[in-house]
Amino acid sequence: MGPLARLNHFFWRYKYLFIPGLLFTMISAAFQITVPMVVRQAVDSIPRFVRLFTLYDGTAAQADLYAFFFVALLLFAGGIIGLSATSGLFMFLMRQTVVVASRHIEYDLRNALYDHLQQLSETFYHEYSTGDVITRATDDIEKVRRYIGPAIMYVTRSLVMVLVAMSAMFFISPTLTLYALLPMPLLAISVFFMAQMVHHRSEKLQEQYSTLTSRVQEALSGIRVLKAYTREEAEAEAFEAESEQYKWRNLDLALVESAWRPSFLLLVGISTIIVVWVGGRLVAEGVITIGNIAEYIIYINMMTWPVASLGFVITMIQRASASVQRLQTIMDRTPEIADGPHTDPSIQSLEGHIAFRDVWYQYEDEDAPALRGVSFELPADRTLAVVGRTGSGKSTLVRMIPRLLDPDAGTVEIDGHDLRTFPLSTVRENMGHVPQDVFLFSDTVANNIAFGDLDASRDEIRQAAAEADLLENVADFPDGFDTHVGERGITLSGGQKQRTSIARALIRNPRVLIFDDALSAVDTATERNILRSLRERQGSHTLVIVSHRLSAVQEADLILVMEKGAVVQRGTHEELVAQDGLYADLHEKQLLEEEIQAF
Ligand code: ADP
Ligand code: MG
Repeated sequence: MGPLARLNHFFWRYKYLFIPGLLFTMISAAFQITVPMVVRQAVDSIPRFVRLFTLYDGTAAQADLYAFFFVALLLFAGGIIGLSATSGLFMFLMRQTVVVASRHIEYDLRNALYDHLQQLSETFYHEYSTGDVITRATDDIEKVRRYIGPAIMYVTRSLVMVLVAMSAMFFISPTLTLYALLPMPLLAISVFFMAQMVHHRSEKLQEQYSTLTSRVQEALSGIRVLKAYTREEAEAEAFEAESEQYKWRNLDLALVESAWRPSFLLLVGISTIIVVWVGGRLVAEGVITIGNIAEYIIYINMMTWPVASLGFVITMIQRASASVQRLQTIMDRTPEIADGPHTDPSIQSLEGHIAFRDVWYQYEDEDAPALRGVSFELPADRTLAVVGRTGSGKSTLVRMIPRLLDPDAGTVEIDGHDLRTFPLSTVRENMGHVPQDVFLFSDTVANNIAFGDLDASRDEIRQAAAEADLLENVADFPDGFDTHVGERGITLSGGQKQRTSIARALIRNPRVLIFDDALSAVDTATERNILRSLRERQGSHTLVIVSHRLSAVQEADLILVMEKGAVVQRGTHEELVAQDGLYADLHEKQLLEEEIQAF
């Protein structure tokens, strides 16, 4: 039960619900357990009346006796209904406290998990797939909730019922109780095996369900490719096969479950037969009454359900325990990139002077470092360009500037201080990073831009869009800035998406602006427009621009040429063109391409 102890503070937090909840559970069980006693009284009153009837047979008093018997039966019936109703009322109160508390805890857990997920750094998201994280946020939390609510409720209720029923039974006749409980161990064992079988099968069912849903998810998000390659039929067949699997696993589970109920009822039946058989002899010996037999049968029925459900409650608790552990592995992860003892919280702003000093970085599970001893220095308000082939480490380099990655060795400095002395919020608020892979939210154009600055007015949004050369496009959209872009911006072209992403960065007026191949999907004319408006920007900024197109970098104050994680050449455009090397090669090739295109 180790991991579940982690939940104890939640019980404490909602003690004002749990303590009354447990009390209501016990009261409800107590009322329910008195019902058989009333039944016994009712049954036992029958032979008494029969004796009285024969005694007064043929006299006038017999009519009064009838009336009296009738009233007595009504009273018993009323008593049973009253007790059951009271028990039901407390059961309602129990649900209203314990189940409500479990929902509160579910809410707290989910929020805590989400907050934490937002803190975690990139490395975490490389390790865990989105599906895995979502499963934890939904399925695992649900399992924990079931433990907190239903499992605790059932366990308490069952314990109270079994204890009270058994004591009542023992009080009446220890011998009969021993006989009546004879099949119980068998019941417990069969229930345990049954629960294991059901558990095993429902795990497999769950697995198949995941396979099925991820298949659908992938097919739907790739529906365009799917159609383009006319894979609909093949995909439908594959889906049918998975669906078939799912059906069979469901039927398999249903088989076990339907076999379980009759065998369970059989055991209860055996108990009842024993009570009538052994009990009948005890009645004949005058040890117990007939009413006791009726009482016993009800007790046995009341007790078997808690015992039968125990197996399921145990699996429920086992699952919750595994889920808590899975959640905890996430909650125990500390974000690699966070403020620490080296942070000076008083730093609220930065200028944008950037220096890298012998920076090394290697991704986990990669054989070679992505950055090998990168060093450079760029004064504030200047422009740095990084060029090189795909995979040479450009993105890795620029992601160190807003601290999306921290170097393994060496330091990144801003304004002459180690970047880690700045509070993370200061770093991120003062930087605008346009990543290589644009991500748009399924929202309007305006909201996607304003994501960079939630207080932005419509004018500011318009201004940012103008600078990103997006205004003309927006004018053509059906609802202008209020046009929905679809999931991940599916209704926009690649270039429109990139420019929306650029506008999002610009609207923050960042001190440092980072374009990671952010102009790859726009034509040269648009590129020129955007670069011009960047130069014209009031309150200028440090610009870091990664590009595979040299036209975008010619005006840079410093150009770094990367190869295999190292800076192999550096200088201005003029200097680099004059040198033999990668840059001159790239330049020549691109000039040639332009000429070809001009034809
Ligand atoms: P560029 O931006 O110049 O194309 P990157 O910085 O993206 O290059 O990549 C540099 C190297 O690091 C490549 O070999 C790439 O495969 C590797 N790499 C990049 N991102 C990751 C990642 N998230 N996990 C593992 N390896 C990565
Ligand atoms: Mg890149």
